[in-house]
Amino acid sequence: MSPEPLTPLSDQFGRIHDYLRISLTERCNLRCVYCMPAEGIVLRPKSQFMKTGEVIALATEFVKLGVTKIRLTGGEPLIRNDAKEIMEGLCKLPVQLAVSTNGILIDKFLETFKNCNIHSINVSLDSLKEDRFNAVTRRNDFNKIISNIGLLLKDEFHLKLNAVIMKGVNDDELIDFIEFTKDRNIHYRFIEFMPFNGNKWDWNKGLSYKAMMEIIMLAYNKKVVKLKDKKTDTAKAFQIDGYKGTFAIISSVTNPFCDGCNRLRLTADGKIKNCLFSNNETDLLTPLREGKDVLNLIRESVWHKKRVRGGMETFEDFSAPELNQLNRNMISIGG
Ligand code: SF4
Repeated sequence: MSPEPLTPLSDQFGRIHDYLRISLTERCNLRCVYCMPAEGIVLRPKSQFMKTGEVIALATEFVKLGVTKIRLTGGEPLIRNDAKEIMEGLCKLPVQLAVSTNGILIDKFLETFKNCNIHSINVSLDSLKEDRFNAVTRRNDFNKIISNIGLLLKDEFHLKLNAVIMKGVNDDELIDFIEFTKDRNIHYRFIEFMPFNGNKWDWNKGLSYKAMMEIIMLAYNKKVVKLKDKKTDTAKAFQIDGYKGTFAIISSVTNPFCDGCNRLRLTADGKIKNCLFSNNETDLLTPLREGKDVLNLIRESVWHKKRVRGGMETFEDFSAPELNQLNRNMISIGG
């Protein structure tokens, strides 16, 4: 059964999709252990990736179908030579524009962010310890990223920090991360370690929402205030009474939040992914280059979206390598 024309981008479960995450590149200037294979990934010829105008053209098609928020991701979106041009093109659309970055190049884009009305910035910060951060990212950019976070705070950007929590890596920093929100207007999100192609996922290395909350309640007990979450929110948010910032947990592994999902992804090579964990993609770039309509391709992809995690409903399914390794690696999705 095909969907009705000109209706909001709905799937068979009645979820309306108005939030598009666009991966601008599969390249990155970090090598995070939970994302990119140590040896990196095989880089493909540029011709296979969306050009500046094609990013804007495809985004425009999604906006016609009701998308009102676009987040730029990567790899690392800011390393693209035309990242500024793309932001200047997209901010002409009637959308809220946001960026997810590893933070290294933020100082070079502060003016562009302001000129393009980009207020919401997500920065990955998996440790507050320099040596450990550099070990997780396999690069030495800790101080640069911390100083760039300072610049965003000074200019009052809406700043979210993301940390993938891994046992024996940074699970002992949960309280330090929360203390980082004491005098800073920051929203720190703790992400359950997720399986992607090539990231050697093993749930024994992961820390569940429940386990994280046990550590947090032990430390703060009654001072933990539950904040209201929107239906489309990915994170369960909290605040320590009297603290300036907040924190949240993203529990895709132990407590998926798919009922309210409003997210779609456009990969750097121009394919729509109707779910972060779906390996069922539709090529939009080739038909776009052939001057063909892509609106119905987008509708069809959304209509056939699975209810939960690309069809991996149970934990057993989700943790089965024969299923979760069919997906791309994280670097070529952009989270
Ligand atoms: S796993 Fe897929 S369906 Fe669930 S919230 Fe994430 S993108 Fe949406």
